[in-house]
Formats: sequence, structure tokens, C-alpha cells
Amino acid sequence: MKLLVLSFITISLLSCSQSKLKETNMENSNLKHTSVNVQKSEEEWKKELTSEQYYVMREAGTERPFSGEYNMHFEKGIYTCGACSEPLFTSESKFDGHCGWPSFDKEIAEGKIIEKKDTSHGMIRTEIVCANCGSHLGHVFDDGPTDTGLRYCVNSLSLGFEGDSIK
Ligand SMILES: [Zn+2]
Repeated sequence: MKLLVLSFITISLLSCSQSKLKETNMENSNLKHTSVNVQKSEEEWKKELTSEQYYVMREAGTERPFSGEYNMHFEKGIYTCGACSEPLFTSESKFDGHCGWPSFDKEIAEGKIIEKKDTSHGMIRTEIVCANCGSHLGHVFDDGPTDTGLRYCVNSLSLGFEGDSIK
């Protein structure tokens, strides 16, 4: 059988669609996301944070106990998120937890901190992360010595501090 006519079927794989989604329809920005506000790539965080901060805040690491800058730090002021500077705790809520890490009995305002179940290292703990940027802060325990009964055990590397005198 001789094919005298070769039929070429040209399939255009190039879709010429130049339709771009119009940003004017992006009304979704008003949706309440359960996710965090600050969305940065891990590359961006790596540039902004020191390697130690990155390890703790983005890889849920833990600084060595009694090593942190704010463990025995009792000046008056506001403790902020070390990654996004959102206020998280006040010096009034800080106490000496004798555990080697800065300890607080409550967040500065409701909703500043997100709690997550953490089953790593063979333990069931409650991880705490910054609600604004999702960075790891530490853990919260229900053995606090004050009225709240809570002990927010936070890495110094996850914190910044703004003393009252600065304001
Ligand atoms: Zn944050």
C-alpha cells in the first residue's frame, strides 16, 4: 500500500491563550485565613534571620537551656516575635520558670499565638508559633505557677525586646 498523500495533522501545542486572571477579581483577600499573615519563602527567612534564629524559628529547633539572652532578663517592656516583630508577651507575664528558657504565663493579647500539637521526640507537647508569621516560638505547658496555670516556654532566639525606655 502506497501512501501517496501524507497527511500531516498539525496539532498546535501552543495555546495562544493570553488570558490573564484579572487582579480586580481578587476579592479573596478579605477572607479570614487560618494561615499566617506574613508569607515569606524559606529563602527569604534565611536572608533575614541569623542561622541560629533560622534553626529555632523555621525548623522548630531549641536553643540550649540557660543560653538565651532573655532567660534571666527582667526589664520592663514588650517581647516581640524575633522574626516579624509582632508583640507577643509583656514583661509582666514573665517569670523565672527555672527551666532555662524565658517563661511567660500568658500572651500579650488573645490570638497572638497559635498552638499546635507536637508529637516529636516521643513526647506529646503543645508547640507555640507566632500567629502573624508562623515562626516557632517554643512550647506551652499547663504547669505554670501563676493564676493562668500556663507556662509559655519560649526560645530567646525567637524573641525580640522593646524596653519601656525606648518608647
Ligand atoms: Zn512572627
